[in-house]
Amino acid sequence: MHNINVKRLPNLAGIAAWDALLDSKTSYPELEGRQSADFAIIGAGFAGLSAARRLRQLAPEASIALIDAGSIGQGSAGRNSGFMIDLPHELTSEDYAGSAPNADHLITQLNRHAISFASEAVAEYGIPADFFRRDGKINGAASDAAHAQNYNYSTHLKTLDENYEMLDAQSMHDITGSRHYMSGLYTPGTVLIQPAGFVRGVADGLAQQVNIFERSPVTGLNRIEDGWSITTLKGQLDAGKVILATNGHLESFGFEKGRLMQLFLFACMTQELSDEAIKALGGTEHWGVTPSDPLGTTVRRISTKQGGNRLVVRTMSRLMPEMKTSRSQLKRAEKVMRNKFDTRFPQLADVKMQYAWDGHLCLAMNGVSVTHELEAGLYSACVQNGLGTTRGTLTGIAAAEQAVGVQSDVTHFFAAQSRPSRLPPEPLAKLGANMIIRWKEWRAHKE
Ligand SMILES: Cc1cc2nc3c(=O)[nH]c(=O)nc-3n(C[C@H](O)[C@H](O)[C@H](O)COP(=O)(O)OP(=O)(O)OC[C@H]3O[C@@H](n4cnc5c(N)ncnc54)[C@H](O)[C@@H]3O)c2cc1C
Repeated sequence: MHNINVKRLPNLAGIAAWDALLDSKTSYPELEGRQSADFAIIGAGFAGLSAARRLRQLAPEASIALIDAGSIGQGSAGRNSGFMIDLPHELTSEDYAGSAPNADHLITQLNRHAISFASEAVAEYGIPADFFRRDGKINGAASDAAHAQNYNYSTHLKTLDENYEMLDAQSMHDITGSRHYMSGLYTPGTVLIQPAGFVRGVADGLAQQVNIFERSPVTGLNRIEDGWSITTLKGQLDAGKVILATNGHLESFGFEKGRLMQLFLFACMTQELSDEAIKALGGTEHWGVTPSDPLGTTVRRISTKQGGNRLVVRTMSRLMPEMKTSRSQLKRAEKVMRNKFDTRFPQLADVKMQYAWDGHLCLAMNGVSVTHELEAGLYSACVQNGLGTTRGTLTGIAAAEQAVGVQSDVTHFFAAQSRPSRLPPEPLAKLGANMIIRWKEWRAHKE
């Protein structure tokens, strides 16, 4: 495939709240006219930014261009819940546990490698420490079934020799201010990021050494004699080697069709809490609760250090092979999220939601990423599954290492993965998957 016409461009709904909370933002130019670079990276999320940073480390003299269709911080990398999790986080399992302890040991080690890489960027680029907090996370349980899932997961953690703490209902109330949870499983290794603040901070740190282009959707990619020519709406860039870091939009470039699950998730954020609301809420200033059932609801409390005293709720997911949701789907999601919020925080009935949005993640049915040389000089750092913060960082590192011919534990991990398994044909895949998701969401309704 030497001439690629990009079939779809990113299309996300709602305001990217985390980005809207930031006060100072650098804007990067659009790609215009004819340009060139030794390496070009398409996509400036976790994967693209990590690829750029790793390339700088490995090839400090090389010229590097980083191109994004939108504004950095407003894509899915800036629209998530900000849990950079070190432990196995298998969304398709009942309780996040992976399978064999050996495989989970390896995943945990690699996730921690990604977290260290991100942490070094925070230090090197002077990103505010409160955009990258080592708070850990709690798997909240609101039913006996969820409590049992937490218990199963804790047994699994014990076999992995990982630290954890079981919290009772009172401790959950003391931390979150909510009486909704009957128990929780705390693990210390998760970093809670201000996602837009983090990715913008990394981009700003790289900007001295990397040419960054925003609002420059890539519409075509053509093989040329000594590399690839990238066409954007207003310009063209020729590069010796190209890394595709577009997650699910790998498919829009014509790769892995019929093998990728394009999942859209919804989230919302409250208005700034008044002093009275903060008092009525109680609890502590910073915490993050993931549901003990993967199809439940995630909640975070943030403070002025991340952009305001607010609560952030994420729930509902839908498989969207067309890679966009509708206005009515976002409206429906807003109602569901409001309901989840009211159940947890009846004392905050007067607090309004200021923002609601969707975002895109990409799963393979067999949990693999696509991180290899797709064609000569064209590399992929895509398909992050449920944990795009850490997995995205790892795929970016791997693609940069592959592009300069370096081997490491990270490249070996991806080299050993098989291809994403084939999905049933459409519309069966979408109908079937959404029926299963709805059923699991219904089953996890309290979570
Ligand atoms: C509501 C929500 C909550 C989430 N919570 C978490 C969480 O707590 N923890 C976690 O680990 N993950 C979470 N995720 C998933 C996570 O956000 C993604 O997996 C992650 O963003 C993937 O990173 P990435 O760099 O691979 O892709 P992306 O962040 O999607 O970046 C890809 C970039 O490619 C660009 N692009 C695509 N096509 C083109 C083109 N043609 N031309 C130019 N640029 C292009 C896009 O504009 C985009 O900026 C969540 C996702 C959502 C939606």
